[in-house]
Amino acid sequence: MNMLRNIASESLYRLAAQSSRFDVYHPWQELIASQWLDAKALKDLRTSRLRNLLKHSVSNVPFYKQKACGIDPQLLMQDPLAFLNQLEITSRSALTAVAENVRSAWSPGLKSGAAVRTSGTGTGVRFDLKIDNAAFLRKYALLLRNYHTLGWRPGDTIYSLWPFSHEAYQSGGRDIRRVIADTLFHPKRYFPPMPREGLSEEQALLIARRIVTGDPVLIEGDGHYIGRLAEAITRYDLKPPGSLRAIKLATCPTPEAGRKRIAKAFNCPVFDNYGPHEMEGVALQCTYSGLMHLSAESYIAEIVDDDGLLCRSGEVGNLCLTDLDNRLQPLIRYIIGDVIRTRSEEQHCSCGRGLPLIGHVEGRRIECLETTNGLFTPLAFLDLMAAFNLENRCRMLRLSKRRIRLEVSPYRRDIEKEEEAAHALASALRNEYQIEVSFVPIIPTGESGKMRYLSDAPES
Ligand SMILES: [Zn+2]
Repeated sequence: MNMLRNIASESLYRLAAQSSRFDVYHPWQELIASQWLDAKALKDLRTSRLRNLLKHSVSNVPFYKQKACGIDPQLLMQDPLAFLNQLEITSRSALTAVAENVRSAWSPGLKSGAAVRTSGTGTGVRFDLKIDNAAFLRKYALLLRNYHTLGWRPGDTIYSLWPFSHEAYQSGGRDIRRVIADTLFHPKRYFPPMPREGLSEEQALLIARRIVTGDPVLIEGDGHYIGRLAEAITRYDLKPPGSLRAIKLATCPTPEAGRKRIAKAFNCPVFDNYGPHEMEGVALQCTYSGLMHLSAESYIAEIVDDDGLLCRSGEVGNLCLTDLDNRLQPLIRYIIGDVIRTRSEEQHCSCGRGLPLIGHVEGRRIECLETTNGLFTPLAFLDLMAAFNLENRCRMLRLSKRRIRLEVSPYRRDIEKEEEAAHALASALRNEYQIEVSFVPIIPTGESGKMRYLSDAPES
């Protein structure tokens, strides 16, 4: 029955593709094929797409025209990657200053496909990014490729669990097509967003019950949210849905131990996905090796320090992305606000895909603590807390420059364990911070609905 539904739905995709205004089928099929190209062919494809993007941006978009002043234009033709490396990095605040004041300065002549609203959690600056039609469809196709890799087929049900209301991040009349497509081709069910004041035990149980009685093939959503539901499934001994093939985690870093707990509760494999609002489908964890594949047909990823210089291997730095799809408001060497560890060697995955490998995103830069040993990232924090079963029930509050309050909200209080967790945190921070621990009944989320693992304590 499922197979018939899959075949019928895929035919609908193809049918819709015949209207050139809504062809997601061909970009999707191209992306399914291109991931298996060898590394050299993918590199050539990426170089040629980068050359086109740069040519367009430095001739048509004043923001980048100015950045390219003084760089040899010959270099763009000969070695676009070297040309890219000479452009100064783009911060979100610099971009919004231009986006707000000279909106018409972005790529005149191109039709807007959508405006994507960013949450601003990573950088503290929100803005609406304009995406042209072709790029919009391609981002959608990248999302479909990720679903497809995880075993989803057209027609299969997806459950979406986000920390925020999904409508808040969809804007523009063109998005209506996306909603129609969602309904027609892959029924998506959105669950209530995470309550700002935190998820109570009763709410977690209620949502977990709704999930286990449904027939999702794929669950996608926030790692923290799904982690809390996994706890409820385990605690109340609920039977996970047999239809489930995979869980795709995003929005916040999930430690390895937490991923294992989710996999056990839902009885299916769990994969990391990285795709911020303004850049869908940047990376997905390989179902074969567990390593992260970068969608190299659409993105170039660099890792730079706070001064914009390339990091050395093994270092944690700022993820700096170039989007090869969007011509309307191009994002070139764009600091997204997340940190990632540089991989130590150029290595290819044993699954056979030519897509390059990158590290796991470790959280937001503004939620990192500085130590003499480098950045202490949200992922490092959660890894530590997972040893005490607290990865979904903790956060840090900065009381002053070197004083941190660790807030924990265990299901059952165990003062000794709380003290132990605080001690482990102090020692991971090389005793450079003074740590105090405090029990709280519930951990609230940040302003956008996503968890914040480090924030400043409100002035008392
Ligand atoms: Zn792989």
